[in-house]
Order: sequence, then C-alpha cells, then structure tokens
Amino acid sequence: MKSESGVIKMNQKALFIIFGGTGDLAYRKLYPALFNLYEKGYLKEDFAVIGTARRPWSNDHYHEVVMSAIEDAGRDSGRTNDDLPRKFASHFYYQSHNVDDVDHYVALRKLADELDEKYDLQGNRIFYLAMAPRFFGTIAGHLKDQALLTKGNGFNRLIIEKPFGRDYPSAKELNDSISGSFKEEQIFRIDHYLGKEPIQSIAGLRFGNALFNSLWNKVHIDNIQITLSESLGVEERAGYYETAGAMRDMVQNHIMQIVSLLTMERPDVFDSEHLRDKKIEALENIQMYTKEEAKKYFIRGQYGADEANTQLGYRDEEGTDNQSTVETFVAGKLITHNPSLDGVPVYIRTGKRLTKKSTQINIVFKNDDQNIFAKDASEKLKTNVLTMHIEPDQGFTLEFNTKTGNQGYNLSPVHLRYRKTATEKAQIPDAYEGLIRDALMGNKTNFAHWHEVSQAWKIMDVVREAWDEEEPAFPNYASGSMGPEAAMQLLADDGRKWVFNPRS
Ligand code: NAD
Repeated sequence: MKSESGVIKMNQKALFIIFGGTGDLAYRKLYPALFNLYEKGYLKEDFAVIGTARRPWSNDHYHEVVMSAIEDAGRDSGRTNDDLPRKFASHFYYQSHNVDDVDHYVALRKLADELDEKYDLQGNRIFYLAMAPRFFGTIAGHLKDQALLTKGNGFNRLIIEKPFGRDYPSAKELNDSISGSFKEEQIFRIDHYLGKEPIQSIAGLRFGNALFNSLWNKVHIDNIQITLSESLGVEERAGYYETAGAMRDMVQNHIMQIVSLLTMERPDVFDSEHLRDKKIEALENIQMYTKEEAKKYFIRGQYGADEANTQLGYRDEEGTDNQSTVETFVAGKLITHNPSLDGVPVYIRTGKRLTKKSTQINIVFKNDDQNIFAKDASEKLKTNVLTMHIEPDQGFTLEFNTKTGNQGYNLSPVHLRYRKTATEKAQIPDAYEGLIRDALMGNKTNFAHWHEVSQAWKIMDVVREAWDEEEPAFPNYASGSMGPEAAMQLLADDGRKWVFNPRS
C-alpha cells in the first residue's frame, strides 16, 4: 500500500473516537469495516477505539456488541480464527457521553491520553462523527477547546457523514462550524459512492486506456447518461425521506460526484490533490441554470400505486404525509463546459419504485455521418454505447456494429460484455472498509472536498428554488414504471432516448 507520500506502508497506528458508538451506522458498517482492516493487517495491535454515546454501557457490554456486529455482518465469511473478533474487541473502550457536556470531553481526553500511551499510538487520532450533523459543530468545538486534538507529530482527522446541509447556506454554516477546529485537509467527508469500486474504476477506464481516453471528448461523445434506479419504495426511511427527497438524498451528492468523475479533464498525476482539483473544476464548469431553464431541464416525480394496485403510492406509505410534495424521482439535463466535453449534455436520473434496480452509466458516442453501408440516405448507423454497470451488476458492455448474415452487407449491433463474477464481487471490500482504510492512511482521493460539496449545492439550489415556485401534480408516475413521461420527453426533445429502458 502506497501512502500519499509514496512510502510503502501497510498498517497505521491510530486511536478512533466514534461519536454515536451505539448507533446503526456504527453497528452495521463501522465495526465490521474496522474488523476487516484488522483481519487484513491494516490495523495491527497498536490501535484502540473509544465508542461514545449517551447510553451507560460497560466495556464488557461494548465488546459483546462489537463482536455481535462482526458476526451479523460476516456470517458467511468462513473465518478460520474464531478468537480474532474477541481479540479485536478488546481494543474497544466505551465512554458514556452527552455531546453538550463539557465534563465528558475532559473525561474523554483523559481516556484518549491513557490509550495513546498504552498502545503507543503516537498521537494519531481519527474522530468519526456517526451522528446527526446538527451535533458536528458542538463536537468539533469541544474537541478543540478541551484539547482532544493532539499536538506534535500525530495526526488529527475528522470523518463526517452525509447529509452535509440541505442547501448551500446550511452546508456553509455546517462547514464553518467545524472549520474552526479542523483544517480542510483534516476533514474526510464520506460519500459512500466514492468507496464503491466500480465508481473508483471510472478514472482507470478513462485515463488508463488510449481507446477511451482518445474518444472522451465533444467530437466523439454525443451524450452521457447516469441512472441510479431503485425498485424499492421508501420502506422504513419515510421519516428521513420526508425531510430530504431524491434531490438531496441522491443527486446533490452521489450523482454530482459521478458527474465530476465523468466530465473532469485528465489530471497530470493520479493523486488526491490533482484529482480533486480536476473534479472541482468540472463541477464549476457545469452550466448554472436560470430558474426558467431549471424548470425546463429538471423533472421531479413521486410514485403512485402500481397499475394493478398492489403497491402503495408514496403518500399512502407509513410515515409519509398524505399530501406530501416530496419528490421520489428526479431526472435532469446538465451541460458541461469543461474544454474537452464543452456542450455535451449529461442526463441524470434517479428514483424509487422504478421498473428495475440498476446503477449504470451510458456513454453514447456520436454516429458517423457518412454511413457507407446505407441502402438509402436515411439509414443511420446504430450508435456505439459504452455502459459501465455499477450495481447490482458490475462490469462493462460495449455496443458496436458488425456484419451479420451471409447475404449482402448488413450491420447489426453486438454487445461485448464483461461482468464480475459473484466470487469476484465478494472479494471487493465494502465501501466503508476502503474509505476508513483511506482515512487511516491519509489518502483523500475518495472523499468529497468542501468546494465539490458547495458547488454541487449551488447547482441544485437553483433547481430547488425553481420547483418551490410551483405545486407539483403528484403522484405522477406508477410504481414499477421508469418515472414520469416528462423524463422520457426531456431526451426526446433533444432527439435522444434513455439507453436504460427496462420493460416491466
Ligand atoms: P442512529 O440514530 O442509529 O445513532 C445515533 C447515535 O448518536 C447513537 O449512538 C446515539 O446514542 C447518539 N446520540 C444522539 N444524541 C446524542 C447526544 N446528545 N449525545 C451523545 N450521543 C448522542 O443514527 P445512524 O443511523 O447511526 O446515523 C448516524 C449518522 O450517519 C447520521 O448523520 C446519518 O445520516 C448518517 N448515515 C447513516 C447511515 C446508516 O446506514 N445508518 C448511512 C449514511 C449516513
């Protein structure tokens, strides 16, 4: 493993302080991810974890919880060393804590200093805020004031979770509230999509292949399509979803990160600094719409019941308002003005209760104007499409034309397919494992910089303001369909159609 400085380094000493240690995220994601890092040797015996939350747990109880989290996450992992979870859990310490209580930070510092000495952690600290963002500022302020941030050669890193604000002003306020204690280079903003291997492989595909690198420009690419479609409805997340909606839940963060990876110029060097600069530039070069343009180019939707009336509409789901105007679907057109792709449209789409679950990216290449095989002037070549399958399938499909049949010279499209096998997919670490390992190693490549987050909000805020001027006519798509008709029309108006168009 190469660190940012280029030094080969496998493991790292550190004290993790997890705020929200009794919560769902810690249980389902963080403890299993830390365990996997331990099992693989990225964490050796010189690490410790302090879990903090309001509940009065003992260390022994905490160890049982951590072991049970590992077991729940990895029933099928075929672990050979059964003692390992217990050995791992012995590095965990629980500290009951209320984020507003200054005395608790004093106790936390004492414990942190003790553990630092006991495990020889050399002042390396990772503060993981697995709590609602409204607490971030308070915690960051107390960490600084109560001297939990170490001085000297050790590092202080802050890992935070989404949602990072509701719009640009609230995101800025949140950022300001932590930036008094942590510098930008110490802040690791998680967007778990950036932890997914198929998303990380976008850069490799683009810049590691002369074939695609040379074609990735406005001369050859007609349009780019990004679809994050879910077949499930809001399920048990109605409470949160009523305050968020698809735009805040999926578009501002995950989709805009994917847009930046697809439209950025090639960095001179592949490291987090160069990559981040190119991603920021890409987002700054997305055309900023007027409200009128936003209304024209962005479509929102909310699912109703399915045609057979076997699935509830969003407004009838438990926990939602029966007059809710929250969008469960967004489609939109973004236009990049990055030099290589200047003017190329990027169509984005996400929604719940759609026909089929799939996250995929389609790169639609331009047709050759001169079809020398045409029988008449109107006969066009079928466009070449490169599809990156992100989930549940992982891999690529390249669609191109080839001669078929024995009679005459007829061209038909064929699909060159590569899919990861179930075994290959099972070997890919969970997004959280990779992201925590990156934070431990100080590698910021797969984290969102404040300038990315803020620019994405600015682009989305115009759309939200435009939408807020009108009452939506919801529900406007049936469960099991691919969203409102207007989302199809958005591309039809440009003489295009969605590549991913599954039939129910
Ligand atoms: P949760 O409600 O399960 O856990 C919240 C934790 O905060 C608990 O440990 C609770 O004891 C603690 N807490 C709350 N108020 C406190 C206080 N005043 N003082 C001390 N501790 C307090 O929430 P969660 O699902 O674990 O999510 C945590 C954060 O991560 C949220 O911001 C959420 O949006 C984000 N997130 C969660 C997931 C997930 O899969 N759960 C995924 C992505 C992002």
